[in-house]
Amino acid sequence: IYAPEWTFALVENAVQNGLELYLSTEVKDIGREKDFQYDVVTSKGILGTRYLVNAAGLFVDEIARMVGDNDIKLILTKGVMAILDKSVSHLVRNMVYGSYGKDHSQLVTPTAHGNILIGMGYFTCPEHKADTGVSGEKLSEVVEMAKELIPAVSEKDVITSFAGIRSENTKAQVMGDFYIGESEHAPGVIHAAIGSPGLTAAPAIAEYVIELLSRAGMAMEEKKDFKKHRTGWRRFEEASFSEKEKMLASDPRYGHVVCRCEQVTEAEILEAIRRGADTTDAVKHLTRAGMGRCQGGFCGTGVLNYLARYMGISPTDVTKKGVGSYQVCGFTKEKRSQHG
Ligand SMILES: Cc1cc2nc3c(=O)[nH]c(=O)nc-3n(C[C@H](O)[C@H](O)[C@H](O)COP(=O)(O)OP(=O)(O)OC[C@H]3O[C@@H](n4cnc5c(N)ncnc54)[C@H](O)[C@@H]3O)c2cc1C
Repeated sequence: IYAPEWTFALVENAVQNGLELYLSTEVKDIGREKDFQYDVVTSKGILGTRYLVNAAGLFVDEIARMVGDNDIKLILTKGVMAILDKSVSHLVRNMVYGSYGKDHSQLVTPTAHGNILIGMGYFTCPEHKADTGVSGEKLSEVVEMAKELIPAVSEKDVITSFAGIRSENTKAQVMGDFYIGESEHAPGVIHAAIGSPGLTAAPAIAEYVIELLSRAGMAMEEKKDFKKHRTGWRRFEEASFSEKEKMLASDPRYGHVVCRCEQVTEAEILEAIRRGADTTDAVKHLTRAGMGRCQGGFCGTGVLNYLARYMGISPTDVTKKGVGSYQVCGFTKEKRSQHG
């Protein structure tokens, strides 16, 4: 399972079943008239609610403070990972994990898409919650530790690297465990402070949160007309020859490969945009355009232009992953006004 694709599919299915989705909407404060009556102040207005699930990840402590719970403190660690080119995907077929101590991990594993992922080296303390930079020195450490497990791993095969911040919290009964519980000060508010392996545990956590909401008094009734099936879309590269012929007959844009490394076609990119991908990272996570050896060097501009064209905005307004992450600052040959 590739987590972003899975999450996107779940959200699409929830929308099919009536969920109102607010993307790029920051929770700035939470006001309380009385118990079970909260005003969630967001960047797009105020939402009134009786129940609230605080699943804000690294910001779970800040949301908790908004309802008066000041005792969730997070302990953060930073882990670095790198992706290897598909040309060396034969190196391992299963996860190889070196479990030597609490302060580091050594991992070489295939990904859902056939690359190899290595990580995470010695954990360090991030300077802040957005400290996801990777130094050359740290990357070399990760490669060296991967080599201890699989000697043929080489830094020249690294196509990208990234860091993530993991959290533990002081409210958990056992250090390292999750804290999932109803607020002690604000009835109807459920906090879910989860660190690793929060992704693997997510379905079970969801069931537990439903139970907590029910215990808090939320009336729940099984939705009789629940739509179980969400229609995905076929990857052109993975299709058989006859399927490809059918896909091409249905839409000739399957014949235009935009991302050469991952063989992603124009039709797939446009389908991702039609379904709501509104940043270059969103298109990348849904289609893999930009995830290959060149890391978007060739297709990045193309994807950006498709987003601008189909969203009816200027290329200067297209972002990598939301407000502030603009990629084009102006035009060299034409005046900006001509691009509207
Ligand atoms: C390097 C690394 C490796 C890991 N490996 C594994 C693994 O192998 N297996 C595993 O199971 N887990 C793993 N984890 C842990 C896993 O990624 C996390 O436990 C999980 O993502 C936490 O999910 P979450 O929904 O609580 O938080 P998140 O996924 O962080 O989601 C929180 C969401 O809340 C939003 N948000 C925050 N504040 C606000 C606000 N004020 N207003 C609006 N929205 C807000 C954020 O934008 C975000 O979308 C790893 C983590 C790291 C960093």
